Amino acid sequence: MFGRCAPVFAGQESDFPAEYVMALPDGRLQCQLCPNGCIPAEGENGNCRARGVRNGQFTSLVYGFPCVIAVDPVEKMPLFHYHVHGPALSISTAGCNLVCQYCQNWQFSQKSPAETANFAMSPSDIVLRAVDMQLRTIGFFYTEPTIYIEYMKDVARLAKKSNIKTVMVTAGYINSEPLKDLFELIDMFVVGYKGFTEGFYAETIGGKLDPVKKALIAIKEAGCHLEVVSLLIPGKNDDMNEFAAGAEWFVKNLGSDVPWHFSRFLPEFLLKNLPPTPNGVLETAREIAIKAGVKYAYTGNNPGQEGNHTYCPGCGKKVVERLGFKVLRSFLSAGKCQDCGYQIPGVWLDDLPNGNI
Ligand code: SF4
Repeated sequence: MFGRCAPVFAGQESDFPAEYVMALPDGRLQCQLCPNGCIPAEGENGNCRARGVRNGQFTSLVYGFPCVIAVDPVEKMPLFHYHVHGPALSISTAGCNLVCQYCQNWQFSQKSPAETANFAMSPSDIVLRAVDMQLRTIGFFYTEPTIYIEYMKDVARLAKKSNIKTVMVTAGYINSEPLKDLFELIDMFVVGYKGFTEGFYAETIGGKLDPVKKALIAIKEAGCHLEVVSLLIPGKNDDMNEFAAGAEWFVKNLGSDVPWHFSRFLPEFLLKNLPPTPNGVLETAREIAIKAGVKYAYTGNNPGQEGNHTYCPGCGKKVVERLGFKVLRSFLSAGKCQDCGYQIPGVWLDDLPNGNI
């Protein structure tokens, strides 16, 4: 992560006017951005801590004040079916509209901008930083980008003009109108399908599953590039009967071509008492998903496993070989298997020598 790329302001809040706000008949203001529908009083924040009412106006408190700026391979997000040149510039602000008990970034996500050290970076500063560093992708990553949607949209607009791709890594806990506004701006969506029952979302995430399912379907129907990730947590969402029902829903509603990543849990935040996910659980989930019809099922956070690679559904050949977040070799030409010609869905770089990366 960067320490000196821009001035750092501890506790800085923005006063940028928030969008997606409705005035209620009694004069209070309700946020329409996510299913939480917060109605904070003057001087208070919404559940996400990134938005609140100041001087009678619903305000984005984090616009232009990212608390994390980093450089990451897109495979870390995880994004396997959209090749980009080089790594991405990742940004995030303080706050989140969910409370995942296992959050790896809780030092930022479960804080308000008044509690984090923030960089002062306008949307053009972010894009110029990416251009200066010759990074051709910007990732809205680490915390939930929904809660800083005004900032994300302005960064994405400028990125488009500079021919820089954007990826939103999100829990998909967003209402349909603001989500629709992102379809023409964001190139790639990585959405967390964090569990397979409403009970899991209520107990471990602090939200509801149904809005996430609606967001997944909307992104798919809009024709945007979509990859899905599920972190499997021992004793929380690793019941394989519930998982199988989730896999059935996935194929019925998203089809067989959307890549689905099963990620290994590591003890963090409020779930430090649980063990890491055994590899066998990830492998079983992958097998169930494949049996249900998912063509591109991956395991992650577990380098060196069969599930890290892409296999051709036509002939079974390993067509993209990975180690951790690195692509070692590709056997695709224009996205087609070099052996049988099967077209693998996604966006693949063609200007790589001999199809190898
Ligand atoms: S985005 Fe934040 S303020 Fe708006 S409804 Fe969701 S949690 Fe509440």
